[in-house]
Amino acid sequence: MRTLQHYIEGGWRDSIAHLDDVAPATNRVIARVPRGGVAEVDAAVVAATRAFPAWSALPAEKRAEYCDAIAAGIAARAEELAALESLDTGKPVALARIMDVPRAVANFRFFAGAVRHAATDCHEMPGALNYTLRRPLGVVGLITPWNLPLYLLTWKAAPALAAGNTVVCKPSELTPLTASALAEIVHEAELPPGVFNLVHGLGGEAGQSLVEHPDVRAISFTGGTATGARVAATAAPQFKKLSLELGGKNPTVVFADCDFDAAVEGAVQAAFRNQGQICLCGSRLLVEASLQDRFIAAFTARARALQIGDPAADVTQLGALVSHAHRDKVEGYLRLAREEGGKVVGGERPSLPPPFDAGAFLSPAIVTGLAPDCRTVQEEIFGPVVSVHAFRNDDEAIALANNVCYGLSASVWTRDLARAHRVAAALEVGMVWVNTWLLRDLRVPFGGTKASGVGREGGFRSLDFFTEERNVCIKF
Ligand code: NAD
Repeated sequence: MRTLQHYIEGGWRDSIAHLDDVAPATNRVIARVPRGGVAEVDAAVVAATRAFPAWSALPAEKRAEYCDAIAAGIAARAEELAALESLDTGKPVALARIMDVPRAVANFRFFAGAVRHAATDCHEMPGALNYTLRRPLGVVGLITPWNLPLYLLTWKAAPALAAGNTVVCKPSELTPLTASALAEIVHEAELPPGVFNLVHGLGGEAGQSLVEHPDVRAISFTGGTATGARVAATAAPQFKKLSLELGGKNPTVVFADCDFDAAVEGAVQAAFRNQGQICLCGSRLLVEASLQDRFIAAFTARARALQIGDPAADVTQLGALVSHAHRDKVEGYLRLAREEGGKVVGGERPSLPPPFDAGAFLSPAIVTGLAPDCRTVQEEIFGPVVSVHAFRNDDEAIALANNVCYGLSASVWTRDLARAHRVAAALEVGMVWVNTWLLRDLRVPFGGTKASGVGREGGFRSLDFFTEERNVCIKF
């Protein structure tokens, strides 16, 4: 069993207190996680503050080369990182291989390219010229969740570093392994000490200390909506820059004129990929009434056929949920769904051989018969649970889709292009996919409306967030 360490000022730091890191697929303790707090966060921020002047003064090209070196380091350890991510989160290694790890490589390559191509504005006016400088902020705090640990940490660290900031990362205490591996890769890439720091620990301790720290200039946070509200309340009085990527309750909207097979497959993927633990998952399935029975039958059959079990097996399509506590929460929602009048198909603990009989597995659950306003349909469950609802026309589909406090993403399935445009324009979300789901271009704006967050990441928007603009006006 490994004992992880903090990574501060280019060195590894032991901790007095530790937390257990449990593999959710077997319920076995796989690592001891340092339980950092005020002192460790302060040491990391001091180191990052010291490193900032030299790092920010490097030419962008040099920082881009460091980012390329980190990308190469991740790529060189791809198989090991996929295995670590699978072990720590319970997700299928097959998924980590094609999604989490390649995306982590792409994040560093992409933002290396982005700073190489970044430009600033120039505004001419009669007798004067304005040009706009962009300067990195200083020390920034990066706080990430457990569902896509390496994918999301690199999505923040790459633009922050490329733009010239120094960083203190606080990954989820539930899934710390790949963050520690990333620190090793950064170390091997020979980033100057203090540029990249990693403090492990609980959200209410290490995370809260990072948000409170007066020398941290910005917080980029991805996690739950309730935590986001707490982070915002702490950061706002200090006027820190804040990016919040929060929860979702996303609709998959299926019209009767869709490509049936593609829509079934897309809706199943949207509902259950990563055991339904992606903020973008389509947890509300809205189907045009005339198609409903046929669609639910095909959707249910496809979902029930997903291969569930050992996350390390190549054939596995559904692994374990992130923890037993999280499975308890999801099962609590299935009980609530029944109390609220819903009919649940699936949602059982599958019978698996040891050691997976001790794991936090749950089969896909499909709930019908729920009213759109009930708690099961309104609250983010973040597990393999989808509720199905019928609509009769476009307006009803739009009203149902928008009838939640969240507004992250939606997917729409139709062959009618005019309808696709109309519906996409009316949905109160940050991202709409038409006839696909989770097809990502790293240049496009990523983020949510309403309770799903504040701000956008992606492409130059990420670089904008991690820099401050300064206009210079020169009179001729
Ligand atoms: P969480 O909010 O419990 O934790 C996220 C991170 O915040 C963790 O590192 C945690 O330790 C830390 N944290 C907790 N309390 C804190 C505090 N007071 N101050 C500072 N940091 C604190 O979320 P989670 O359960 O790890 O992740 C699941 C949630 O993340 C879901 O709601 C999901 O929708 C959301 N999510 C959103 C996106 C997005 O891009 N919008 C992406 C992935 C996940």
